[in-house]
Amino acid sequence: EQNQEHTERESLLIAMNFAKDFFVKNLQSEEGRSIGLSYFKERGFTPQIIEKFDLGYALNGWDHLLSEAKKAGFQEEILLKAGLILQKEGDPSRLYDRFRGRVTFTIHNISGKPIAFGARILTKDKNQPKYINSPETPVYHKSDVLYGIFQAKKAIRDQDNCYLVEGYTDVISMHLSGIENVVASSGTSLTDGQIKLIRRFTSHVTVLYDGDAAGIKASLRGIDLLLEGGLNVKAVVFPEGEDPDSYSRKVGSQQFQDYLKENSRDFIGFKIGLYKDEIAKDPIRKAEVIREVVQSIGKIPDPIIRSVYAKEASGLLQIDEEIIFAELNKSLIKHQ
Ligand code: ATP
Ligand code: MN
Ligand code: MN
Ligand code: MN
Repeated sequence: EQNQEHTERESLLIAMNFAKDFFVKNLQSEEGRSIGLSYFKERGFTPQIIEKFDLGYALNGWDHLLSEAKKAGFQEEILLKAGLILQKEGDPSRLYDRFRGRVTFTIHNISGKPIAFGARILTKDKNQPKYINSPETPVYHKSDVLYGIFQAKKAIRDQDNCYLVEGYTDVISMHLSGIENVVASSGTSLTDGQIKLIRRFTSHVTVLYDGDAAGIKASLRGIDLLLEGGLNVKAVVFPEGEDPDSYSRKVGSQQFQDYLKENSRDFIGFKIGLYKDEIAKDPIRKAEVIREVVQSIGKIPDPIIRSVYAKEASGLLQIDEEIIFAELNKSLIKHQ
């Protein structure tokens, strides 16, 4: 009996895989080709990359997936639990597809099984969110998942470095640029679970967040979390308004790769770089930046690495080592 019955997790995985196949197939339908595929083409996505990432299209209608899944024998209860369909507000017996008229990005677990979707709007409708994502389910714990990890894990291990970006399309465009060791946090702040996942493959992370105020703020937060997790952290700043996707398409693969090489800074250089102009003019601001840098150094669990960075900070900020170490000890005591 146990052998016949699927556990709930298995049923959910089968439903997600069915939905993935349905979206992938519908990208090749008449509607899918003219709306979804042409959108991907405009973004420079090739047929090979579309296949590699299981990109798809959710038809524009209320119950395309629902009725096809029911025909295939899926119970409504499982589809609801999978987050693929929703109950109408005020009339829960009425069910409808969550993803409609959007291109779909399949989110895979580490072994390549579809566990969730992100879906992008194709119109300029400002009343709709740009992306809709699957909710938390028994097979999708957002905080333990990184987009692209399945396609990236081998390259992360080989390169002994993991690029961390914000978005689905950043991951895909970087693959198109020949960089495969890349995962996305998908616009939410990093979690311990995600950091542990990276640590299975490397202890080096390079943060490539969007070149806007939100992206820089998120980088700073992410860097401290990564440092706390014992990872070696670098970061790259992109020109204002660019993200890895837009910038790689703008300058091309070779120049993009060169840009990453030339602009990777360790977290201290990154932080000081951000405030370079302010520091030069304003000693009070410089004092604040020193405190901020020291605070980040204080997150590093390994005392030897901490001391190496303290020395580097002293040199770069032209501040006596003793002062850096004294400040570091203060913040370490505070955190005990
Ligand atoms: P695109 O290039 O298609 O406009 P992007 O990845 O550059 O997308 P950003 O606005 O930079 O989009 O957001 C980064 C990531 O944050 C997205 O890839 C997505 O995972 C997530 N995200 C963005 N907007 C939303 C939203 N409205 N709801 C949920 N997640 C979102
Ligand atoms: Mn952004
Ligand atoms: Mn972006
Ligand atoms: Mn973008």
